[in-house]
Amino acid sequence: MISVDEHLETVLATVPTLPPFDQPLLEAQGCALGADVHCRVDLPTFDNSAMDGYAVRSADVADASPEQPVVLPVVGDIAAGSNKAYAMGERLAIRIMTGAPVPHGADAIVPLEDTDGGTANVAITRAAPAGAHVRARGEDAHAGDLVVGKGTVLRPRHITALAAAGYERVPAHPRPRVVVLATGSELQPPGTELAEAMVYDANSYSLAAAARELGAIAYRVGIVPDDPRQLLDLLEDQLVRADVVVTSGGVSVGAYDVVKEVLSRLGTVRFTQVAMQPGKPQGFGTVGDDRTPIFTLPGNPVSAFVSFEVFVRPALRKMLGLSGDGRAHVKAVVTKGWRSPDGRRQFTRVLYEPPTPDSPDGLGRVTPTGGHGSHLVSTLAAANALVVVPEAAVDVPAGARVNAILLDGGRLPLGH
Ligand code: AMP
Ligand code: MG
Repeated sequence: MISVDEHLETVLATVPTLPPFDQPLLEAQGCALGADVHCRVDLPTFDNSAMDGYAVRSADVADASPEQPVVLPVVGDIAAGSNKAYAMGERLAIRIMTGAPVPHGADAIVPLEDTDGGTANVAITRAAPAGAHVRARGEDAHAGDLVVGKGTVLRPRHITALAAAGYERVPAHPRPRVVVLATGSELQPPGTELAEAMVYDANSYSLAAAARELGAIAYRVGIVPDDPRQLLDLLEDQLVRADVVVTSGGVSVGAYDVVKEVLSRLGTVRFTQVAMQPGKPQGFGTVGDDRTPIFTLPGNPVSAFVSFEVFVRPALRKMLGLSGDGRAHVKAVVTKGWRSPDGRRQFTRVLYEPPTPDSPDGLGRVTPTGGHGSHLVSTLAAANALVVVPEAAVDVPAGARVNAILLDGGRLPLGH
């Protein structure tokens, strides 16, 4: 048996970061920026009005008051987007809209509210100091300034700044394409009438959903029966569109464990026992001319789910240009104890309840959602966290402090 950490190390040493390339801004949402992006222009690119009102010379309106308004002739009208070159002489006003360029000669905007709104002449009832309501060229950013840094996961706020800075495309790490297939002659697609001794395929859905949640593109191929020829053919077909292949089932020591049989012959995939529960039988390696990484996960749905969480998730994040598992890890207190196998790291399905303002220790509480059987999907659905029990621990008593991985955090926004 090898340790969880050793297996993860092998995985991360093999899986590449997908090189960034220019992608349309919205395609890049949720992806990591592949390079620093700098402003192409000054922002704002020209002095413009922050208000609907009148462009004036501040000196001309310095004495304006409600009692003694300053009346100026209105000699023009500038709308947002207007490129008429206006220059304004002394003791004149030009009507101006928000976002419109401030005319040469003017140095302040009098908001509409401080006037009578006149169109031939305007009575101004309040002084406007130099610079009032003028958004100055470059006050936000200068050409060449950093807009968003390399490695940033692009959220709507970054997309806002990048578009404002003139970018229609940005260099971003692409989403890995993950081909998901479930092996097992006993499997039937959900939505069909279940025949005797058959089970619904949960894993192709489970693994595709987990891949999508972290920002990958999942191709859920579905079910392959336990037949070496069919599996080989399907794998060959699918490799053209795969950055990663994830399979489930067929990796234990049973007579029809076809994944093991087929891939052992290809010789690039290593099958190992990993010191964990659930998820002991694991296979990992590369297939095909492009040396596409392949994960062969065990078939029990909880084993497959946990294996994805522990090994595939960090691998896909590396491909996305990210690091770690992107999860919140918290300390919590056990409400109801359980046992853990000696020498294996246990990932226990629990319900995590965050600390309340009156928790004495400031920690949340974790309660197991049911049995440890790796076929128990209802206990998986009821859990929102996995407690990580160290290899040496055999007893996790009530009151113990444990580490939990929160499953509902750390997701990337998806654009598909
Ligand atoms: P295996 O790893 O192929 O020996 O499968 C272990 C257990 O998981 C068996 O009870 C299988 O029927 C079950 N199993 C395998 N694949 C799936 C799947 N895609 N969906 C639900 N159960 C599965
Ligand atoms: Mg099987």
